[in-house]
Amino acid sequence: MSSPYPAGELLAELCLNKFDTLPKTGKPTNKEWTILAGVVQYDENRKESKVVALGAGTKCIGRSKLCSGGLILNDSHAEVLARRALLRYFYAELRKAIENKLSIFQWNAEKLFFTLKRELSFHFISTQTPCGDACIEDESCDEESIETPNKKPKLVCDELVQKDFGKTLLNDSEVVYTGAKLIGEHSDLLQQFVGVVRTKPGRGDRTLSMSCSDKLSRWNVLGVQGALLDTLLDKPIYFETLTFCCSRSNEKSIRRAIYGRWLDRQFEHVKYKPQKPLIHICDNTKFKYVEDTGKQPSPNGLVWCDIPVNVNPIEISVNGKRQGVTAKKSNSPQAALRTSKYHLLLEYVELLKAKPEFCKKFGITMEKLEILKYNEFKNIAEEYQNAWGKVKSDYFQQWTSKPQHLQTFSIVTQKTDKTNL
Ligand SMILES: [Zn+2]
Repeated sequence: MSSPYPAGELLAELCLNKFDTLPKTGKPTNKEWTILAGVVQYDENRKESKVVALGAGTKCIGRSKLCSGGLILNDSHAEVLARRALLRYFYAELRKAIENKLSIFQWNAEKLFFTLKRELSFHFISTQTPCGDACIEDESCDEESIETPNKKPKLVCDELVQKDFGKTLLNDSEVVYTGAKLIGEHSDLLQQFVGVVRTKPGRGDRTLSMSCSDKLSRWNVLGVQGALLDTLLDKPIYFETLTFCCSRSNEKSIRRAIYGRWLDRQFEHVKYKPQKPLIHICDNTKFKYVEDTGKQPSPNGLVWCDIPVNVNPIEISVNGKRQGVTAKKSNSPQAALRTSKYHLLLEYVELLKAKPEFCKKFGITMEKLEILKYNEFKNIAEEYQNAWGKVKSDYFQQWTSKPQHLQTFSIVTQKTDKTNL
């Protein structure tokens, strides 16, 4: 069965070309490398593809640097930046729908939610294998057993993963080291077990951020929209295809990491459904800034999304903050990226103000909008939180939880200095 979507090579090329058109600032120098991830929106009616979000970066901050005001981005891996850029794009499109302008979303006045237009789908692209489980090749899997898209998968590979879940320790010859770290009591945190969850790679101060394999796997069940946007939409938004332009990517390993390792787990939910996205590997797409042992990883994060120029579609970051902010302002809202928790919460609150029907639906007064805390807003998404609780106990028992005080900021607590907000 052929894919109803454009070829992975084409989607990847669109992302690489878009990245090329961005200004030089924040891009790797000739002594640096980075990873690029992107999201393409495909319109089935018009047969049109367009890049709507890009993220480039390789860094993740340690737990000691986490910010209780939601101002600092913990995780600046390309995959995570691209998804956050996509959220900014979604907010801008929701705003257009509210203003009755042409938008990817439509308002349903009867049911009080927004619906994504049926003809649209989203496609994920990355120039590297996601860190964590997808990097580990298990040669004992049978190549013959690769599923066909129209057949319910029954994989020798996945059966093996399920049987020996978390126990299959690979020989050195079979390993492409993920660098991501195991969670819990292990003599060597870098052991290459297959199918288990991990935190992100990095030296020193351990991060609380999960590996990109685990995050992609989570989005594959709950959607990419996250808790806040979930409250405004009728259903989750999933990536329909995943394309990796890297000759070292192994399709079987990626498939296992995204959904294969959970195939024996039951997860029944009316709204959230574990997906089996199409996975493409294309090794003939050349990214200019690909990882090179002779080069250093770029310290910058770069985020772009398809929104008007006057609202800053490009942002460059260092250590999860905007590049170029003075040391004096480095812990203020001015240092925060538009993709930070704080700014995305601000976008959410502005949307609720513009669409008071939601306040009524959620039972909150307009006055409360500014003082409710981040975690209280996230808890409005009751269905999402219940499903996430179930996903965690069924799939991701070892998913790290961030300290509660990192979730209890509100917009008003940060509005001490309103300039530049
Ligand atoms: Zn990663």
